[in-house]
Amino acid sequence: MLIRAGTSLSRIAADPLLSTLFPVLTGAVQVLGSPPIRNMGTVGGNICSASPAGDTLPPLYALQAEVELRSRTRDRRLPIREFIHGPGQTALGPGEIMTGVWIPKNPSFHRQHYEKVGQRQALAIAIVSLAALIDLSPGGIIRDIRLAWGSVGPTIITAPAVEAGLRGRSLTLEAMEEAAREVRRAVAPIDDLRAGADYRREVAGNLLSRLSLLAVDRPEARS
Ligand SMILES: Cc1cc2nc3c(=O)[nH]c(=O)nc-3n(C[C@H](O)[C@H](O)[C@H](O)COP(=O)(O)OP(=O)(O)OC[C@H]3O[C@@H](n4cnc5c(N)ncnc54)[C@H](O)[C@@H]3O)c2cc1C
Repeated sequence: MLIRAGTSLSRIAADPLLSTLFPVLTGAVQVLGSPPIRNMGTVGGNICSASPAGDTLPPLYALQAEVELRSRTRDRRLPIREFIHGPGQTALGPGEIMTGVWIPKNPSFHRQHYEKVGQRQALAIAIVSLAALIDLSPGGIIRDIRLAWGSVGPTIITAPAVEAGLRGRSLTLEAMEEAAREVRRAVAPIDDLRAGADYRREVAGNLLSRLSLLAVDRPEARS
């Protein structure tokens, strides 16, 4: 599915089809900035800012989105992880613009979750964020999982080894806490005015541990 780069964040947050297909993305956009910021800001602008704290980025990494780029001489598509090179740095070439973002539909990931920890409940830049997609069997076994953290490295951090270790395990607090210890070693946060690196490392693991709450099939656990 294609979302055009100029689509406002408030339109994404309120779109019923996107909320059904990609609740991890709409959930992230609903906690991005404030209503005026979401009315003015676009998904293309949020991606091209390439901030490690950008709220659309962890969901788009987990969803394995691709960006569509266009210039007078060429059209191309790049996986988002290849598009973003570092804070404020992208693969945009001279004269190139982003025209849209393609997101593959993957209905097997029926548990989707985004959580952001900031300094306040609203209008807060992420100190740590986590996007998670889980394919959970009726018996509570993790058939597949994708995880992406924001604000704990120069770009969005994924942890394929942690995901591999969780496949086939039950979604329990014990399994997630074990994986959380690995995550705290894998992330590379910095100290800045919002939080220290040690705090960020701890919270990156805690957000993973909290995913065990999604084992309970409550509607409010699906956002
Ligand atoms: C008070 C405040 C609070 C904020 N809170 C949050 C927050 O909680 N979470 C969060 O993620 N962000 C937050 N932001 C950041 C900001 O709202 C977003 O990054 C916004 O999505 C930017 O969108 P824009 O369309 O205004 O982009 P612009 O600011 O116009 O552009 C950003 C950059 O991307 C480039 N660009 C934009 N569109 C394209 C395109 N189609 N092709 C190529 N290059 C392009 C521009 O040239 C520029 O370099 C906040 C900003 C403010 C001012």
